[in-house]
Amino acid sequence: MTRQYETVIGLEVHIELATKTKIFCGCSTAFGGAPNTHVCPVCAGMPGALPVLNRQVVEYAMAVGLATNCEISRLCRFDRKNYFYPDNPQNYQISQLYLPICRDG
Ligand SMILES: [Zn+2]
Repeated sequence: MTRQYETVIGLEVHIELATKTKIFCGCSTAFGGAPNTHVCPVCAGMPGALPVLNRQVVEYAMAVGLATNCEISRLCRFDRKNYFYPDNPQNYQISQLYLPICRDG
């Protein structure tokens, strides 16, 4: 039997990190709270609001990468994907597709 195809399986893993603030701003990650108290122009996706990466997130990501035998990158990049929905045209998701913090684990 000839091997005409190679099976390649990719995993997309989502985790919730135990940081006190969100990944790209200083807003609290505490559960609950009054409406609109854990949001700012950055996490609301307002035009011109610039994100600042949470150092603790990078440290956690590197620790998980080392624990899973990943290669830790010296340079990483985040990619922002915008979604247009009529009721919320500023929807977006930030991921690391091309230059992740760690890979090949
Ligand atoms: Zn925020």
